Amino acid sequence: MGFALAAHGIRKSVPLWLLVIASQLPDWTDAGFCLAGIRPSVPGILSHSFPAVALLALVTSAAYAATHRDPAGMVLVAAVVASHAVGDYFTGLKPTWVGGPMIGLELYKRPVLDFIVETAVITGGWLVYRRSLPEDRRSSPPAMTLLAVLILIQIGTDIVLSVATGMRKC
Ligand SMILES: [Zn+2]
Repeated sequence: MGFALAAHGIRKSVPLWLLVIASQLPDWTDAGFCLAGIRPSVPGILSHSFPAVALLALVTSAAYAATHRDPAGMVLVAAVVASHAVGDYFTGLKPTWVGGPMIGLELYKRPVLDFIVETAVITGGWLVYRRSLPEDRRSSPPAMTLLAVLILIQIGTDIVLSVATGMRKC
């Protein structure tokens, strides 16, 4: 999500809500598959492997292209989807492709640590976004509220995803 905010700072014409969805899409796809009772033999193969992330990035940028004539924005949306997978390789253990190795540093396995890492990335992204604002608005209530709201969304996501994981046990 920090990448989403940084991307919005780089290119204001791409709506932030879209970038936030893009940045969490592989996790929601994962949760969706599991809630639908679809359990691949390799966890995350349908949502976090290279081909799956490429497909999600393609679908998201195609959806964006259908509503906006903005090639640079399209690339940015796709990059934000991919940034989620890159982040997961640092923090988790994810499949690469069918039959390929699982890679990841597994820096955390718990939502609390996920929250700490994500909050650090969000704050970094927010600082990039903040620099795109006029100087007199950088510490304004809307700018501060945005940071608070994004952190709250992250808390909500961590809670929902950990509950969903507990329910489905996959
Ligand atoms: Zn993920």
